[in-house]
Amino acid sequence: MLLRHTPKEIKERKALTVNPAKTCQPIGAMYAALGIHGCLPHSHGSQGCCSYHRSTLTRHYKEPVMAGTSSFTEGSSVFGGQANLLASIQNIFTIYEPEIIAVHSTCLSETIGDDLKQIIEKAREDGKIPLGRHVIHCNTPSYVGSHITGYANMVKGAIDYFAESTGKKADRVNLISGWVEPSDMREIKRIASLMGANSILLPDTSDVVDSPQTGSFNMYPKGGTTIADMVASGDSKATLACGEWATKDAAIKLENKCKVPFEITDIPIGIQATDRFVTKLSKQAEVTIPESINNERGRLLDVITDMHQYLHGKRVALWGDPDQIIPMVEFLLDLDMKPVYIVSGTPGKRMANRLEELLSEKVPEAKYKNGELADMFLLHQWIKNEPVDLLIGNTYGKYISRDEQIPFLRMGFPIVDRIGHSYFPTVGYMGGLRIVEKILGLLMDKQDAECPETSFELVM
Ligand code: SF4
Repeated sequence: MLLRHTPKEIKERKALTVNPAKTCQPIGAMYAALGIHGCLPHSHGSQGCCSYHRSTLTRHYKEPVMAGTSSFTEGSSVFGGQANLLASIQNIFTIYEPEIIAVHSTCLSETIGDDLKQIIEKAREDGKIPLGRHVIHCNTPSYVGSHITGYANMVKGAIDYFAESTGKKADRVNLISGWVEPSDMREIKRIASLMGANSILLPDTSDVVDSPQTGSFNMYPKGGTTIADMVASGDSKATLACGEWATKDAAIKLENKCKVPFEITDIPIGIQATDRFVTKLSKQAEVTIPESINNERGRLLDVITDMHQYLHGKRVALWGDPDQIIPMVEFLLDLDMKPVYIVSGTPGKRMANRLEELLSEKVPEAKYKNGELADMFLLHQWIKNEPVDLLIGNTYGKYISRDEQIPFLRMGFPIVDRIGHSYFPTVGYMGGLRIVEKILGLLMDKQDAECPETSFELVM
């Protein structure tokens, strides 16, 4: 029992977080920056921070994630990191030749008060930024928020830097993607293309962190939102932002800067959230929803109806990011399952409000919490007091899964002990089908392994 010291008795805690259900802000900024074509993320802080950010993304995607660091020493911690960042910018453009360097801060550089905007301006004045190359930035103090906050800050930073309005609107819609897998970004583009919607996806990590093996190393893979598209996003007629926590600030920035009206929708996980996504996209892009998409929806509904008896009433514990948890909870309710325990380390009162709307009638016994003290320790304590049938969340749930013998669906970030998440989408109706298939497989495998011989079924 790896978690044998987790007590069943729940005591009120005021300051201590044990096994947080989140990671740090710069990881999100780094992931968002990877969704920009030809961009090298840069961590303005110590080498240790950058190693952690890179290794977490590398382990999740099984791809070498590249990033620069300002390599703070004791001296820069006391006197500021301006000299380090100026040298970094010059070296990176000379040696690694990115189109863009996306700088994010860290706890240390935020605490000493480095002004990234001013340092980048000085780099420009000193001629360290070659013509046609760019340095963008965002602030990511990791003692507030989570990796989702960092992602949101970098997306907003990119829009702030690049989006331009010519005053002439184009027949095109911006899709701002929340934190999802490259497979999901590819699926969102496939759905938009099936609908005939002319769109720009920002950011877009497909073909970056899931690029194919070609036998030769390419430091800047072919994927990622291009500078031209980011500039053009200012002339789009509307923006559809998927995932409030990760995209709202960017959508507001684009509206304020370039007068592009926006709508926020949930990440299209499950039937209802996908319904809302395609309906809003069809209205904004002024296109119809094609028969092929209706058929995908119908196939998902058919599978759910066929297998309902294996899903009905099953108790589920979830952890992760609000933007993914909210539509996932809604989907589980559509499957007639019971999301009973939910934690997220990402703060924001809106999560409790949304979950209250979804759960108060259907699962009144549900417990949920987000923010600093909403950790894996508390989730485990809830489970010890009344068990669940299924766990859904990132890799860190494997300890609870092993100790309590509960089937475990890996979903969210990070997943460092399995593959598949980068390659098979969970968004859209096809993604919903994959989620149902995975859940059924887990529940049925357990039933097959544990049921009495007299109840063992060949046909299920
Ligand atoms: S010090 Fe801050 S920025 Fe660095 S790894 Fe830790 S939480 Fe992240």
